Amino acid sequence: LNRRLQGLGTTIFAEMSALAAATGSINLGQGFPDTDGPEAVREAAVRALRDGRGNQYPPGPGVPELRTAIADHQKRFYGLAFDPDTEVLVTAGATEAIAAAMLALLEPGDEVIAFEPFYDSYAACIAMAGATRVPLTLRAPDFRPDLDALRALITRRTRVLLLNSPHNPTGMVLTREEARAIAALAVEHDLLVVTDEVYEHLVFDGEHIPLISLPGMRDRTVSISSAGKTFSFTGWKVGWVTASAPLVAAVRTAKQFLTYVSSGPFQYAVAEALTLPDTYYTAFRDDLLTKRDLLATGLHDAGFTVHTPQGTYFITTDIAPLTDSDALTFCRTLPNRCGVVAVPNSVFYDHPTAGRTQVRFTFCKQQRILTEAADRLRKAFN
Ligand code: PMP
Ligand code: GLN
Repeated sequence: LNRRLQGLGTTIFAEMSALAAATGSINLGQGFPDTDGPEAVREAAVRALRDGRGNQYPPGPGVPELRTAIADHQKRFYGLAFDPDTEVLVTAGATEAIAAAMLALLEPGDEVIAFEPFYDSYAACIAMAGATRVPLTLRAPDFRPDLDALRALITRRTRVLLLNSPHNPTGMVLTREEARAIAALAVEHDLLVVTDEVYEHLVFDGEHIPLISLPGMRDRTVSISSAGKTFSFTGWKVGWVTASAPLVAAVRTAKQFLTYVSSGPFQYAVAEALTLPDTYYTAFRDDLLTKRDLLATGLHDAGFTVHTPQGTYFITTDIAPLTDSDALTFCRTLPNRCGVVAVPNSVFYDHPTAGRTQVRFTFCKQQRILTEAADRLRKAFN
C-alpha cells in the first residue's frame, strides 16, 4: 500500500456492517434503508433490462434520458438551468463523482478544506489526488461552521472547499446566511467549491441551498448528488454532477478512466424516478421525520445525549453520560452487549478529541426495527 493510502484501512461502514451480520444485530450503522424504493422505479429497471436498454456500455456522460431528467430536477427544485449535453455527468454514485472531482481539480500539494467530521471517502480521495485535507471542525452541540475559523484556514495553497450539507454524520444543514458567507469567501479567494448534496431531499428543519445557486458560484462549483439516498436504491450506484461545461469536462476526464461508465439499465430507471411528483419527495421526508423523532426519543430515554439532526437520516449522540469508553470501543462492543450496531464519529475526525464520544445511529429503518433497537439500548443501559 502506498504512503498516500496508509492508515485508511477498511472503511468503518464495512467493518460495522460485517459486525452486524456476524452478531445478528440490528444495523443502525451503515446508512442504507431496509425497504427498497418505489415499486414503479424497480419495475422501470426491470423493463430496461428486459428491453435491452443499457445492457451494453451506455454513453460516457450518461444516457440522454437521465441527463435530461437531472437537468429538469435542478430546474424544478432550485430554478437552476443546466445544459443536459454539456453540464451534466452521470457517475457511479456520488462516491465516484467525489473521487473524479478531486483527481481532476487538484494538484499535488493543494489544500482542500472540508468540515470534520467528514464522510470517510473525502480523506481517501484527497489523499489519492496527492493533496492535503484541512479540516474545519464542527463542534457539538449544534455543529455550526465557524466562519471566522474557515477564513483563517484559507492559504495560498487552498484550491477546493469540499462542502457537505445536509451534513453526514452530524445532520447539520447550512443556513442561507452561512451558505452566502461561504460563497463570498470562495469568490474572494477564487476557490473551487465541490458540494456533496446527496441528502438534498432530507431536510427537516430549514432548507437546502445549493451553493451553485449563489452569486459568483455558477462557474466555480461542482454540484454532486445521487439517486441512492433520494430513491432508496443505494446498491444501484447512480450519481451525478451538475456544473459549468469546463468543470464537467474536467471531472469527466477523470471519470472516464475510473469506471468509464456504470449502471446501464438503472440509469433509465432513475430517469423515471426523477419525474416522480413532489408528493413522493414530501412523503419520503415526512416518513423519515417520524422515524427521526422516534429514534431520538428512544436514544434519549436510553440515556444518550441526542443532537437532533436538521437533515440526513443520521442522529449523532454523545455516549459520555453512559460510559467512560471512547466511541470506537463502544461501537465494537455494543453488538455483543445488546444486539445493536452504530458508527463511531470519532473516525471521521482528524481532531484528537472533538469526536471522541460521538456515536451515529441511522433511522432509515422500519419503525418496528427502530423501536426494538431503542428497547434493547434502554435495557442495556438502565
Ligand atoms: N456523500 C455522503 C455524505 C454520503 O453519506 C454518501 C453515502 N451514500 C455518499 C456521498 C456516497 O453516495 P453514493 O452511494 O451515491 O456513492
Ligand atoms: N453513506 C453511508 C453512510 O454514511 C454509507 C456509504 C458507504 O458504506 N460507503 O453510512
